Amino acid sequence: MNPPSDSPESSFADLGIRPELLATLTALGYEEPTPIQSAAIPMLIEGKDLLGQAATGTGKTASFALPILEKLTGGDRGKAPTSLVLVPTRELAIQVSQAFHEYGREVGTRLVAIYGGAPARQQIDALRRGVDVVVATPGRALDLCSRGSLVLDSIRTLVLDEADEMLEMGFIEDIESIIALTPKSRQTVLFSATMPKRIDKLAERHLRDPQRISIKSREPSADEIPRVRQIAYVVTRQNKAAALGRLLDAEDPTAAIVFCRTRGGVDDLTDILTARGYQAEALHGGLTQDQRTRVLGRLRSGATELLVATDVAARGLDIDVLSHVVNFDLPMSPESYVHRIGRVGRAGREGVALSLVEPRERRMLASIEKLVGGRIRVEQVPTITDVRQVRQQRTRDAVMTLIDEPDAQARMDANREIVDEMLISSDPYSLALAAFTLAHEELQGSAVDEAEHDLSAKMAPASTSGSKTSSKGNSKFSSKTGSKSSTTSSTKKREAPAGPMTRIFIALGRKAGVTPGDLVGAITGEAGLKGRDIGSISVHEMFSIAEVPSEKARKVIKSLQHTKIRGRKVNARFERD
Ligand code: AMP
Repeated sequence: MNPPSDSPESSFADLGIRPELLATLTALGYEEPTPIQSAAIPMLIEGKDLLGQAATGTGKTASFALPILEKLTGGDRGKAPTSLVLVPTRELAIQVSQAFHEYGREVGTRLVAIYGGAPARQQIDALRRGVDVVVATPGRALDLCSRGSLVLDSIRTLVLDEADEMLEMGFIEDIESIIALTPKSRQTVLFSATMPKRIDKLAERHLRDPQRISIKSREPSADEIPRVRQIAYVVTRQNKAAALGRLLDAEDPTAAIVFCRTRGGVDDLTDILTARGYQAEALHGGLTQDQRTRVLGRLRSGATELLVATDVAARGLDIDVLSHVVNFDLPMSPESYVHRIGRVGRAGREGVALSLVEPRERRMLASIEKLVGGRIRVEQVPTITDVRQVRQQRTRDAVMTLIDEPDAQARMDANREIVDEMLISSDPYSLALAAFTLAHEELQGSAVDEAEHDLSAKMAPASTSGSKTSSKGNSKFSSKTGSKSSTTSSTKKREAPAGPMTRIFIALGRKAGVTPGDLVGAITGEAGLKGRDIGSISVHEMFSIAEVPSEKARKVIKSLQHTKIRGRKVNARFERD
């Protein structure tokens, strides 16, 4: 397929989607189809089979859900489902069925999610009442087929989502058995993030003359990639706004454009930033031309420092005051990242592009890195202490520049008399301290009074699809569990496991960049413990303490000594009283 360009794309209406669904998409704040949606939706509506290479974060769910919903008309809905979506995990089943619910709210979709690990009763009852769409994991789907609860005779569209994951998890036989129960006349759609031989074979066996779509990246020419300092921060969704606040405070952009995925996202973030005292304005497709012109005028004049925008609204913008591009949401295609960061780093000036990456977006980050031909540095979100220090340094630099600046002498002369007078009654240190404090408050705004939270998360592991592990990653590494008000240590509060616990001393702490999540990862990864077996974890400046079950303590210490955390060898021992 053609790479997306910065020119206006097709709209959802151009793709042949009916008005009720269009209204829902507008309400959701989707301004334009993503590349995979533009390519897949028309061919799926036409009834073609499809072999698509796309990962989470590209908008692939809507690309198969919308055509299925498009074909759900009022008249012919029987009891048995007409569409079946197979997914590898329970989490993805829930996520995909939520997407169907959202997209299908105007068309009254009857839908059930079927997955293991939950009682089958409710799922069977829903099937008995009649559904249009079933989103299922293969094991439970087959189980309900053999019980006669799930009947696949009427399936018109079968979707295999994240097919590579399903094969990796050993579902191939279940999938084959399920496919055999569906009518041969069905439309088959297969999405996979990677295309190993086994996927090709599966497609060969079950897809009829499939259309192929790949969201693989086009190599941009050297001058298309601007000279921009690019940094990524791995943050869970719920910590993104807090992380953005810290980054803005630390980076102090002259003017920045902050990208969100949807109109609603733009409005919400603008409200949050405004409430936090930033001069932020929303720019999205819902604004009239007049409003848009006024917003841009305020940005150019410096009255506004942050423009929160969707890709569509930012298209064609040429603003040379921008120092930073912030990807609050990663774009939905790597090429669009290049367009975004092209808004800074112009005319020989260095620009900065900061990206907040959710743990499940590992693949999208990897595709972007590939496209920009170099690693984007992944850094930890600055701590409150870091932010304070950076801000103090800025005030210090301003003061020192004034002292060293020959032209500033005349400006300072005007104040000599009053300072001389103050020096009679105050000592020079107190005077300098008070003057610095005032200057600091004036220059940097109010103090950062937020409690210290570790906002960095871990990327979802490479062997799994992002969606599968995101919730696990969130709970384990989120700041909710990894925070403490102290600025020098963070404690991971966890429910105490039963049985006697032993405290282990680990000679690595915050100074080495260690987070509670790193320690949980090392202990569970190396010593075979489950996360829930670990007691409290506290990370101090130079060391950390982790509580583990007493009977496992020796094993944990031994295995930690053979591992590295943040690239450093670990020195672990029993804590001395
Ligand atoms: P997916 O790749 O299907 O997991 O989608 C990733 C995210 O993008 C989800 O949060 C969707 O709600 C959102 N999304 C999908 N299509 C669009 C679009 N055209 N515009 C904005 N957001 C979208």
